[in-house]
Amino acid sequence: MQIVYHQNLIFGSALLNRFHPFQFDRARAAFRILREDLGSKLEWKTPDKPVTWAQLELVHDSSYLKDLQRSSTIAHIVEVPFLAFSPKALTKRWFLDPARWSVACSLLAGECALECGLGISLGGGFHHAKRQGGEGFCFLNDIAYLLESLRATGKLTLNQQVLYIDLDVHQGNGVSAYYHNDPTVRSLDVYNEDIYPVWRSDLRSTVEVPVPLRSGCTDETYLQATREGLEHLLQGAQDPALAVFNAGNDIFLEDALGGFRVSAHGVAQRDKIVLEALIERDIPTVVLASGGYSQKSSQLLAELCRIGYELTHSK
Ligand SMILES: [Zn+2]
Repeated sequence: MQIVYHQNLIFGSALLNRFHPFQFDRARAAFRILREDLGSKLEWKTPDKPVTWAQLELVHDSSYLKDLQRSSTIAHIVEVPFLAFSPKALTKRWFLDPARWSVACSLLAGECALECGLGISLGGGFHHAKRQGGEGFCFLNDIAYLLESLRATGKLTLNQQVLYIDLDVHQGNGVSAYYHNDPTVRSLDVYNEDIYPVWRSDLRSTVEVPVPLRSGCTDETYLQATREGLEHLLQGAQDPALAVFNAGNDIFLEDALGGFRVSAHGVAQRDKIVLEALIERDIPTVVLASGGYSQKSSQLLAELCRIGYELTHSK
């Protein structure tokens, strides 16, 4: 197992936390917890540079990438209106630079997965971003970029199957929009249907295994639904070359946005169920941190890495 982290993964600042519940330094906090707990036992990887704007045209329209240079576009995506009046240098430092580093980290974690079986990025998982626009704190779709880069470099071929497992509490509408016509990407999405992006039921057929749950969902219901959904996804799988696990911990009961009532133990159980199932079947797996809007999000993310470490080292 390899863990990918870069110090430039930090979005925003403590000041911004007055307006948005995202734990802005989550990646750094998780990195510190892991360094303390597991020290040199973990193998760390760091990308050399962020992806460039030109490279991002692989998955985004150039007109959108141009639009992103405007503070008003950033304010809209982050849903913090005053940012529309902030200088470009600030939105670049707080959002655009970390977003480009996040994409580089996700791709590197994908490459690690193909090389050693399990790659975890402490960032990424921006599943709401679409080809022509961002939303819901997602500027750049690192998941589409990861898959399309691996395909472009021949590390994945166009007919190799990919499993996309989106367990962030929000439905992954950006990734669904990219891949609903691509039969090689087979998706499971377990999400709260009562909250953003309030996904239209007529679009559910664009995901092979949609599992909508209601607000207030607790450990037992959540874990049972996830287990069943995962089983269904794996039963229909045909020798997948890669699994992408979007592991948002915004299902946690203290999360400010998620609306579920899943305990910390339940979050860890979920991560164990998914990783165990994929590792057991020898499916190379890349894990992305995705959403988390509680102050314990970094601890939950560190726990996910510990589970990955234990499973790969007890094999
Ligand atoms: Zn989320």
